[in-house]
Amino acid sequence: MKRYFYSLALGLVSLSWASDALESQPSRYKTFSESAVRQCSIMKIHNPSFNICLDGKASASDLERAQSWAARASLTWLRALKVMDERVTRTILFTCKEPHLTIHLRPGSGTSHASPSVTTIYLTRPYGTWTHELGHALAGLSDTYLGTSAGSCGSQPPSLMCWGAYGPRANPEEWSTLWTDDIQAIQHNFKKVFSGAANPPSWSNSVNLEAPLFLNEPWPTRLEEDVYLENHEVELLRGPASEIDYSEESRSSDL
Ligand SMILES: [Zn+2]
Repeated sequence: MKRYFYSLALGLVSLSWASDALESQPSRYKTFSESAVRQCSIMKIHNPSFNICLDGKASASDLERAQSWAARASLTWLRALKVMDERVTRTILFTCKEPHLTIHLRPGSGTSHASPSVTTIYLTRPYGTWTHELGHALAGLSDTYLGTSAGSCGSQPPSLMCWGAYGPRANPEEWSTLWTDDIQAIQHNFKKVFSGAANPPSWSNSVNLEAPLFLNEPWPTRLEEDVYLENHEVELLRGPASEIDYSEESRSSDL
């Protein structure tokens, strides 16, 4: 496993030389107000588990994918904090009893959106929508795109909160979908709401936060799969799995 991370890091070194002009841009991330950040799921990351409530409507196969993507997207953001503080939880628990994040599932296509600790996601949207909306609900970040359209980034540094679901890092098998700007943004919010010293884990420098996250081993110290299903409140629909909309023309349909 270690070898994997090293080779990936080497690949990125050459990549970052090539895009030096981009990488050296100053951060232009935007965060919610501090009081709004304090209503986001980021406040719950030191609990024994990170609790996600799924409700709404979905077919059985869409629900299964929703669980996988919800866990993966949550752990992607948590990993950016875990490298700063080893107390960040690694356990995802699907429960509607005391949820830290609520995801309303909607069949079909529509405008996905989010507010602190809550998001509504349409089931035809690609994976990038999930990490983007959790950037709002979990991390307390605002959009960085110009105007009303995700992907209109102008001279903004590239980021998930600008690109939305599409763009050059949309493939979760290749990228976490986060960029440096997003990572700096959630780490900024972490420092804002948690004072006091945080202990980074010993492996914190060996993980590339922009690389894909694997659900069964989101970071090196994970010993076993820690994703549990207690309950959900999703009304099960008959029907096949949704066809995911990978067309970039619909990039502006998420908020
Ligand atoms: Zn957004």
